[in-house]
Amino acid sequence: MKKKNLPPNLYSIPALFGHVNLLVDGEECVLIDTGMLGELRPIRKQLRTLGLEWDSIKAILLTHGHLDHAGNLEKLARITGATVYGHSEEQIHIEGKYPYRGINRVCGLLEFLGRAVTFYKAGGIDEFIEDGQTLPFWGGLKVVHLPGHTKGHCGFYSPKHDLLFAGDLFLSYFCFHYLPPVFFSNCPEFFEQSFRKVRDLNPTQVLPCHHIFTDGYRFRRSMDKIWERKFANRNQ
Ligand SMILES: [Zn+2]
Ligand SMILES: [Zn+2]
Repeated sequence: MKKKNLPPNLYSIPALFGHVNLLVDGEECVLIDTGMLGELRPIRKQLRTLGLEWDSIKAILLTHGHLDHAGNLEKLARITGATVYGHSEEQIHIEGKYPYRGINRVCGLLEFLGRAVTFYKAGGIDEFIEDGQTLPFWGGLKVVHLPGHTKGHCGFYSPKHDLLFAGDLFLSYFCFHYLPPVFFSNCPEFFEQSFRKVRDLNPTQVLPCHHIFTDGYRFRRSMDKIWERKFANRNQ
């Protein structure tokens, strides 16, 4: 779905729970996250609308390895031949082997059930990414390691468009914006430092995966409100 306030050649495709972002560069493109079962069709439809094919996708960038982001990873990597980029800490999530503890077991159980009902097959990361690394796509995409939701959770920042793909750093539904629920977040103690990092980066637009109305300027304000509500007082 194209929204007028997004940079040209960025298509944020609604999936069952979140969004898959297609970044187009001429006849080649990059996918950020892969969605879940049944979500290949809208991706293919968007590609065809643009006159592109599956093998136009040259790279798949993973924000993290949860099922709603890596659900189609194995299949998409196979049919596109794309190189998969992700943080090394996320492979264990992709394989469904992360040792969830305490309240986090809720997340582990939902992931387990989700993998079973969607006939999930685990994919693999081809190239491990690190904080600060620039990937040669879409005019250059900088890896921004943003732990909190998972240990290897990463955003991708485009200096050219001054836009951060924020993954699951936060969620924004209707008028509400909040951190991912604690039972879905493996290491919430890192949220504050991740938010501080994004504020230092100071992108004009932010695009989380989970949202209703696609508006990168509005999400930037949402992120600031979360900072004020959750963390700012601790820093006075
Ligand atoms: Zn997640
Ligand atoms: Zn998610």
